[in-house]
Amino acid sequence: MLTCREVSRLLTLEPEQAIGRFRRIAVTFHLAICHNCRRNRRQLKQIRHYLAQTHVAELSQVDYPLDTATRERIAEQLRVHHSTPSEDV
Ligand SMILES: [Zn+2]
Repeated sequence: MLTCREVSRLLTLEPEQAIGRFRRIAVTFHLAICHNCRRNRRQLKQIRHYLAQTHVAELSQVDYPLDTATRERIAEQLRVHHSTPSEDV
């Protein structure tokens, strides 16, 4: 049985990284019984949805205290996820 901390970490990785079929099933079981992790997943989805709607150009114009490498990494993730709909786990 996964702990809430493990589920939280896996939800944060998803969908950026493949977590494997066994872990995905374990996360699904955990979410079925854990209200806090379901709420956490819902909040992550809302953040991803918001970020997907933010244009990369707009992101580069805002004065966020992020270094160039971090901005590029975020921009790349937005490009990837904007073109592929996220999976509903
Ligand atoms: Zn939990």
